[in-house]
Amino acid sequence: MPRIPMTTPLVEMDGDEMTRVLWQIIKDELILPFVDLKTEYYDLGLKHRDETNDQVTVDSANATKKYGVAVKCATITPNAQRVEEYNLHKMWPSPNGTIRAMLDGTVFRAPIVVKGIEPCVKNWKKPITLARHAYGDVYKNTEMIIPGPGKVELVYTAADGTEERALVHEFKGPGVAQGMHNLNASIESFARSCFEYALATKQDLWFATKDTISKKYDHTFKDIFAEIFEAEYKQKFDAAGIEYFYTLIDDAVARVMKAEGGFIWACKNYDGDVMSDMVSSAFGSLAMMTSVLVSPHGYYEYEAAHGTVQRHYYKHLKGEETSTNSVATIFAWTGALRKRGELDNIPELMAFADKLEKATLDTIAQGKMTKDLALITTLKDVTVLNSRDFILAIRENLEK
Ligand code: NAP
Ligand code: MG
Repeated sequence: MPRIPMTTPLVEMDGDEMTRVLWQIIKDELILPFVDLKTEYYDLGLKHRDETNDQVTVDSANATKKYGVAVKCATITPNAQRVEEYNLHKMWPSPNGTIRAMLDGTVFRAPIVVKGIEPCVKNWKKPITLARHAYGDVYKNTEMIIPGPGKVELVYTAADGTEERALVHEFKGPGVAQGMHNLNASIESFARSCFEYALATKQDLWFATKDTISKKYDHTFKDIFAEIFEAEYKQKFDAAGIEYFYTLIDDAVARVMKAEGGFIWACKNYDGDVMSDMVSSAFGSLAMMTSVLVSPHGYYEYEAAHGTVQRHYYKHLKGEETSTNSVATIFAWTGALRKRGELDNIPELMAFADKLEKATLDTIAQGKMTKDLALITTLKDVTVLNSRDFILAIRENLEK
């Protein structure tokens, strides 16, 4: 069978530990036999990041700006223990943070829904995609312990030196205070990423904040979304038959629990952090969550939502068998290949991505799965496969 040709390279960002092991098997068994794969390869493995003073991460993000589509393996975000383990020159920042800052994107996470792995919420029939604003608010706050009586104020000093003040609280005794911020530019690109992704995936978009209480801060988010929607997206949404809908966060939470899924839920930074953990665990497993960074300029970076599965890697290094779930990493590849096919007008490549996803889901539905899924499946008579054999079982279905 001739392999499917590609015209533009994918930006391939290799990573660390168990996911790096899976990465190679996925390429060898599920992609290279079928696709004449063109990638521009960047090794974001921690050792190579250290050797290049993290330049490789910056280069890979620039390549994504050049070509438009990247696929990324999970990477280690170094902490003190990793600095020692890898004998690092520096505690390098999170590659995801660096890439996100350079591409100015929003992260969309969606569960992979498959027969046999049922969501805890019984009316959820379709995936709920969570869009989390990745800048500011409590993640860039300034906090203060207030030791005793006194006045806390917010002070804005304009460029010309004029001041504006607002009283936070007149303290009669000890307490706490915090200041936080966001930027219109960041909220605008968050909004555009959400509208673009809703159009690209033909799903309704929900957005919610606490604007009834936060009449300036949260209200600004609501207003910016509304202005951009009216000016740039209303007609496109009408044409696509999808809806943008704003509501209060409490109302959104109540509606989400009763909905059947199949929409995008845009959240402010903190709400997105908390709600994405709720949605992903209610859908079954972190190993079944896809993640895509979408920039308002139309760059896409696909990855799995989970990390490098360190515990399994140490077993692997000791020569022990592992049963690590490769589904989210496979879906990172299919997402990227499909998007490349769409941009370059290669229908065979898009069809291949569909087939590989179907072969993966069929394998699980046939009762062949990794241990994490075997623990939660409603299917009877399941076969627990090791990391490699699960991928080989998918290949068998793919060849059929
Ligand atoms: P993790 O790699 O997501 O793994 C946490 C646990 O979740 C695993 O020990 C495993 O549970 C289960 N798990 C996650 N993915 C799985 C899979 N594909 N198949 C089966 N089980 C899976 O998180 P972590 O251990 O906290 O972090 C490890 C490293 O990943 C860290 O260095 C962190 O910096 C990095 N990280 C990277 C990213 C990214 O690049 N996007 C994201 C998060 C974390 P059991 O051990 O119980 O089997
Ligand atoms: Mg969280």
